[in-house]
Amino acid sequence: MKIVVLGSGVIGVTSAWYLARQGHEVTVIDRQPAAALETSFANAGEISPGYSSPWAAPGIPMKALKWLLMEHAPLIIQPRPDLQKIAWVAQMLGNCTSAAYARNKARMVRLAEYSRDCLTDLRAETGIAFDERQQGTLQLFRTQKQVDAAGKDIDVLRQGGVPFEVLDVQGCIAAEPGLAASRDKIAGGLRLPKDETGDCFKFTQGLATRAAALGVTFRHGVAIQRLNIAAGRIASVTTSEGVVTADAFVVALGSYSPRLVNPLGLRLPVYPVKGYSITVPLVDETRAPLSTVMDETHKIAITRLGDRIRVGGMAEIAGYDLSLSDKRKRTLQHSVEDLFGGAGDQSRATFWAGLRPMTPDGTPIVGRSPIANLFLNTGHGTLGWTMAAGSGRVLADIVSDRVTEIDNHDLGYSRYQKSTRRPRFIGAPAPVAA
Ligand SMILES: Cc1cc2nc3c(=O)[nH]c(=O)nc-3n(C[C@H](O)[C@H](O)[C@H](O)COP(=O)(O)OP(=O)(O)OC[C@H]3O[C@@H](n4cnc5c(N)ncnc54)[C@H](O)[C@@H]3O)c2cc1C
Repeated sequence: MKIVVLGSGVIGVTSAWYLARQGHEVTVIDRQPAAALETSFANAGEISPGYSSPWAAPGIPMKALKWLLMEHAPLIIQPRPDLQKIAWVAQMLGNCTSAAYARNKARMVRLAEYSRDCLTDLRAETGIAFDERQQGTLQLFRTQKQVDAAGKDIDVLRQGGVPFEVLDVQGCIAAEPGLAASRDKIAGGLRLPKDETGDCFKFTQGLATRAAALGVTFRHGVAIQRLNIAAGRIASVTTSEGVVTADAFVVALGSYSPRLVNPLGLRLPVYPVKGYSITVPLVDETRAPLSTVMDETHKIAITRLGDRIRVGGMAEIAGYDLSLSDKRKRTLQHSVEDLFGGAGDQSRATFWAGLRPMTPDGTPIVGRSPIANLFLNTGHGTLGWTMAAGSGRVLADIVSDRVTEIDNHDLGYSRYQKSTRRPRFIGAPAPVAA
């Protein structure tokens, strides 16, 4: 089958890889000059099935109010009224019940754990190097209150059969010796030994190179403008370089996916939640993290990527704005310097922002759409790197009409169609930006 994949972030490239491996003729189209130059470029580097949880959880509305008042706030909501924002926040709040949390988390963990297995196979098959480490991740608590609150998460890990270690101060330092100088700031930690880390950009670029060798055509520097429908099917896609036809189309445009499919009557509940990262060259290995340390107070992940430290986090609900704020940069620098002071050269830090494609229930949208030959692989939010390989594989199996290796009945767009006849998301369609 001739298949066009729209988007060459980590989700589009993994989709293209698995589709090509299943014998399809695949073309990938993206406006950027190369793969993974938007949200997949400088994320926090965590491959963390163990922490696969929706943001929408019981107690979050109260916590969110508190966060909004913090100096180094993990959550920022721009007050500008915007219909898409209001609708998305309302849907997210609707998912903050215990029942919704349990349902959403279960399907996220299912996909994330499958994804880790797929990534293990992919690494073995392709030999791609991406500053990967399999040394677990550590959630670091600065207060006894945080240690006590972790009890609920531990119950969930236990129920899900996810291996974990509860660590005291000494245990945290044994796992991450770079924390030794910060011992008085630590109250304890929760370590997930099966979690991994790595550079999503390097991985995606490496996989794109191998996909090209397998026969995938990459058309970079090409803006996607609209999908053309005829007789109830997608006939073609109009781009800045002309019209491209295919038997099937896969939408993997991250936060921009709704803009392409809204005009077709599909309302994807995907909102761009902005996050920031800094990447700092390593200058003192003995003070640096070995893997990912998540600072629970600031909700910031500090990850070792080869000879660099990546510090990422924060959630800004502010539409498609990609401007860089000095205040956010200071928050990231504060977090890493406070715990791993002197490990990196802050004067050479590079600063970046990306838009997480977030669904209100935390689960991505992977699978069929109501249009027969249009498939969706989008809405991976905070966990697109973690879930990429598994999502690509599930998507390819669905397109090829194969039985998927994990249950996919609740991963697709149809879960938003069940509760109401009309799609629930009421974001206004906007023109597609190049
Ligand atoms: C600060 C931050 C930290 C994060 N940390 C982690 C982490 O530690 N672990 C984790 O698992 N996830 C993390 N994430 C989330 C993860 O990065 C994303 O979920 C993932 O990158 C999304 O991939 P994607 O391919 O869907 O989107 P993208 O990478 O954005 O790809 C979409 C592609 O579509 C293209 N495109 C869009 N519109 C058009 C158009 N009109 N024409 C042509 N091309 C178009 C873009 O150029 C882009 O290449 C983080 C995100 C952020 C912002």
